[in-house]
Amino acid sequence: MTAAPSRRSGPRVTLDTPVMYLKGVGERRATLLHRLGIVTAGDLLYHVPLRYEDATTVAPIGRLRIGDDATVIGTVISKGVLPTRRGLRIFQVVLQDASGMIEVSWPGQPHLDRTIDTADVLLVSGSVRFFQGRQLVAREHVNLGAGAAGTAEGRVLAVYSTTEGLPMRVLRSLIDRHLDVLLSLVVEYLPPDLLAQGGVVPLPDALQRVHRPTSVVEAARGRDRLAFEELLFVQLLQRRAHALARLARPGVAYENRRDLTRAFHTTLPYRLTAAQVRAAREIFTDMCSPRRMHRLLQGDVGSGKTVVALFAALLAMENGYQAALMAPTELLAEQHAHTFRGLLQPLGLEPLLVTGSLPAAERRAAARRMADRTPRLIVGTHALVQEDTRFGRLGLAIVDEQHRFGVEHRLALGAKGVGGAPDVLLLSATPIPRSLALTAYGDLDVSELDERPPGRQPVTTVRRPESARARVLAFVREQLVRGHQAYIVYPVIEDSEKIDLKSATAAFEAVTAPGGALADRRVALLHGRLPSDERDTIMRAFRDGALDVLVATTVIEVGIDVPNATVMLIEHPERFGLSQLHQLRGRVGRGAETAFCILLGDVSPDAAERLRIFVETDDGFAIARADLRLRGMGDLFGHAQSGAPTFRIADPIRDEALNERARVAADAILATDPELVSAPHRALRRALAARFARALELFRVG
Ligand code: ADP
Ligand code: MG
Repeated sequence: MTAAPSRRSGPRVTLDTPVMYLKGVGERRATLLHRLGIVTAGDLLYHVPLRYEDATTVAPIGRLRIGDDATVIGTVISKGVLPTRRGLRIFQVVLQDASGMIEVSWPGQPHLDRTIDTADVLLVSGSVRFFQGRQLVAREHVNLGAGAAGTAEGRVLAVYSTTEGLPMRVLRSLIDRHLDVLLSLVVEYLPPDLLAQGGVVPLPDALQRVHRPTSVVEAARGRDRLAFEELLFVQLLQRRAHALARLARPGVAYENRRDLTRAFHTTLPYRLTAAQVRAAREIFTDMCSPRRMHRLLQGDVGSGKTVVALFAALLAMENGYQAALMAPTELLAEQHAHTFRGLLQPLGLEPLLVTGSLPAAERRAAARRMADRTPRLIVGTHALVQEDTRFGRLGLAIVDEQHRFGVEHRLALGAKGVGGAPDVLLLSATPIPRSLALTAYGDLDVSELDERPPGRQPVTTVRRPESARARVLAFVREQLVRGHQAYIVYPVIEDSEKIDLKSATAAFEAVTAPGGALADRRVALLHGRLPSDERDTIMRAFRDGALDVLVATTVIEVGIDVPNATVMLIEHPERFGLSQLHQLRGRVGRGAETAFCILLGDVSPDAAERLRIFVETDDGFAIARADLRLRGMGDLFGHAQSGAPTFRIADPIRDEALNERARVAADAILATDPELVSAPHRALRRALAARFARALELFRVG
């Protein structure tokens, strides 16, 4: 970093110059700029617009209709502050363009009277309502200053994010004032072949385009370059961190003895899919290396992750180690234990089940068996990671439905092993795009099951309005008459748990009351508030065919496997996330019969649009992707390991294609030059270090 220049301004501005020393900034504005993350001149240059307005997005004032949400550009022809009866003061202007005039109001913002003057040209976004005629209630505005006439035609307006006390007008003119000098300091640091590979424009060109675009398309091209470089930086950091972490992570070096694993293979009642074989090979390779495995196995619901995990467990066991599988619910843990019992019996092995609800004596017995060094498979809930839980010789930690656990729990099982370093395998049924997984979980390897076992029919999925309720229930009955079973699911969201439970209970009572649609059927109500032994009794009864219908909350979301169930009826579908719906749908269609997923109820047009994605595709990857786009990255990065990257410009979800190109590029660069020391990469390395302090640890920066 260069020292601060001695003079307040002058020709010696560099990209590292603190913004405070830029002309027109000063101490007060510098403080405001810092709030926006703008500390150096370079940061100012990289403060790219949030979005753009141009003639294609701006509406003629004369054509605004009540209820429109619109952006207009016009000249202030009069202004004033109006008091209201409730003491709220409203700033108002009359705005005019070639097509007409409209009143614009800013409730509660009388201070604007000081910064907006008659003859100023404003760009205003807001909604049009009826108030003594048409009135535009401003949500956002940009003051383009007096005499900015002709703005609406042919010019593109950059809209920057700013902070209170720093009007956008000021911020924009600051950037504009210094742009030429700053651009002259910027040098391209990506090698030309990389630019070509990424399909992006050179850096100075990109920055010019984002700040002074001649069209929205141009601006987007510039933005893509900046997004690409940011994604490339993050991928370089994550891939490098990953490579170093692998080297620094000694683990158990298993030997592929083909003892239990082979025996298991011959007793398996089905053939593994090609994807399962590939994933198992990747896992075995990791486990047989002296480094510690840290792998995520992602695959759609029903893609058969469990059996792959079981192979890994057997490899650990044939090497004399214990393997533990942790599931998010007791039901699921029990079911796994049950499945494993069946599968492992021919090998003379028996899984050990450990959950919080075991009677004290059994719990103590289980604890004793866990603590001895006998190789075995231990299946449990987060009881496995409680402080007093001891493993005798844990060599493999498997976390099922890993997205249902917090980071601490996910890592805690791994910390229970021999010397604290068992291999770790995470299973996830909400797959995320590979490049994104690598961005979010930098230190993980990723295997994917992109194929489902053969012979599964897709679940017929439909959405039905409330008015079709009677018909839908009649259909459910029909399925029951044929000897099948059904789920009816209600959302229970924590905040409104009481109300939700009440409505699930009421619905249960309605269908089972004399004369109700399912009055003569065996129906049970299942929810998370029931004591767990009661819950298990109900689940077991359903599994064994002693119940026809489960009216349930999302406690059945993960893992439950009852092949005879052919109907999943979901109430209030709009209250579920797409991935969650997909999980629920995955509970049916497990047998040979056609299965149905019915979303029942009236929903808003927005929700209908969202649900349409779910109805139309059965591909968990596509659904997870749509879900990510809708919900943003908060969830993903919020739960990701610490050290999750932050982004200024790129959005690794929306920019998925760019991110994938960045990943390929990063891998190619690191393959030939892992420390970025070769001549073509030196400038890149410097830029990387300037942007991410973490680069200093990961790359020898000289
Ligand atoms: P998930 O990936 O959702 O955890 P599971 O592991 O529970 O899926 O597998 C779903 C079902 O598919 C199970 O009943 C399992 O026995 C079965 N299964 C797994 N692999 C195969 C295969 N290769 N061929 C046929 N059935 C399989
Ligand atoms: Mg599973």
